[in-house]
Amino acid sequence: MRILYVDVDTLRADHLAPYGYSRRTAPNLERLADRSILFDRYYCSDSPCLPSRAALFSGQFGITNGVVGHFGRAGQYRLEAGHGSAPGRPLAGQALQESGWYTAAVSMFAERHRAYWFCGNFREVIRASGELNDEQAHQVNPVAIDWIRRNKDRDNWFLHVHYWEPHTDYLVGPEWVEKAASTGTVQEWPDEDTISAHGEQIYGPRSALDLHYTSRGPRRSAVPHAMPDAIRSRTDFELLINGYDATILYWDHYFGQLLDVLDEVGLSEDTAIVVTGDHGESLGENGSYAEHGLANEPTTRVPLIVYWPGVTDSLAADRRHRSELLYNIDFAPTLCELLGITVPAGWQGRSFAAAFRGEQVNSRPYLVLGQGAHTYQRAVRTADHLYIRTYHPGAFRAEWEQLFDVTADPHLSVDLLKEKPEVVTEMRSMLVEWWQRHAATPGAPPDPMQATMQKGPTFYNDPGVYASHLRATGRSHLADDLLARVGSAAGTPRVWWDSPEIAGV
Ligand SMILES: [Zn+2]
Repeated sequence: MRILYVDVDTLRADHLAPYGYSRRTAPNLERLADRSILFDRYYCSDSPCLPSRAALFSGQFGITNGVVGHFGRAGQYRLEAGHGSAPGRPLAGQALQESGWYTAAVSMFAERHRAYWFCGNFREVIRASGELNDEQAHQVNPVAIDWIRRNKDRDNWFLHVHYWEPHTDYLVGPEWVEKAASTGTVQEWPDEDTISAHGEQIYGPRSALDLHYTSRGPRRSAVPHAMPDAIRSRTDFELLINGYDATILYWDHYFGQLLDVLDEVGLSEDTAIVVTGDHGESLGENGSYAEHGLANEPTTRVPLIVYWPGVTDSLAADRRHRSELLYNIDFAPTLCELLGITVPAGWQGRSFAAAFRGEQVNSRPYLVLGQGAHTYQRAVRTADHLYIRTYHPGAFRAEWEQLFDVTADPHLSVDLLKEKPEVVTEMRSMLVEWWQRHAATPGAPPDPMQATMQKGPTFYNDPGVYASHLRATGRSHLADDLLARVGSAAGTPRVWWDSPEIAGV
């Protein structure tokens, strides 16, 4: 038995035909999906890249494993010094190795995020290139294919292959953008009025008028054939969608090569294939474009398609499309159960292996979904609703609280906070219940989001510097709004706190 885990950075489920997308962005994945089980409501417990993979491989929420963001203490994995794996809470790859599995990764993730604990998952971690940023699939594939060929006679291996497409910037040639444009029309939302309103009201790095504003300041599009300079019109938006979809098409081309190599070496019928993402991407929702900086639906929902030979291809069609609310921290326990490995006691995820037997999965009534890189937010997701609470907006115009009916309003365009107070009250209670369970019981480690609240997620973008940019571009009223929200006007007096991240207090 072999397992190929394909990790597609920033892949939105709803931009794939098996999830109902009108465009055929991934024909090779479609081929696999026909034999696979597909999970419709699968979410990363913590986003984006670093918190998501920390949760995936630790089987724990960020509030417990320590990683809720990308910088400072909010990005530090809680790992006690000692020998071997942490008692009761090995990484998923360590749990596999302890049961005789050979584990390997083709990924530069550990380097990019200084996440060296990630390497503990694997006997081998191979970087496909010398890049410290955004390797492309044509660089990843030769290394991954070479590994498969060299290990075709080895049994019980788990190979993690990490692709950076479709992570922004959309680094594909114009021919891929043209190909994406030919797959069908771009969705109708947002219309011109909505795009104008986003430009006037929503500010922040990677908002409509600051699409390419980063911690290094404003810049023009690095790939003007795939991403516009700003989102000022439907034409700009359609180019952005064509660029995003083009990167999926490009990735799928290389994914198809992997499937072909498995065929060629005779492993197709003995290799389980998992295709998923670490997080998604806002493409206009909440006024954010080409960014994964909010705890909203498009950022936290990811695809999960699993082909398990002899299992998923034998399931009845109505059992191969699942709608239970699941976290990515549930994946490692599921894998363990499918492989007959005891689930470590310290993991917080719950196995959904029953779905592979065509049985009912005990779905949670709600999920709590965190974001700690660009904003500090936690959201509660129930079957229909998404409640988002902002604790620190970073440099983005994020409302303090919002409520959406995702089923009726998938683009999150109507805030129901005032209209449905009873739902808001219930979902606030869920968030408090979850937080108390994980951070307010004897022995619980402190919530890293709370412990770093003074600095917040501002490593990415300094609100003061961004406010100067807003003033320089004629938007002083928005600069005033930002500084009021992150300053003492938000209601919190400056009080000393023992944190190395707060300088000069
Ligand atoms: Zn990512």
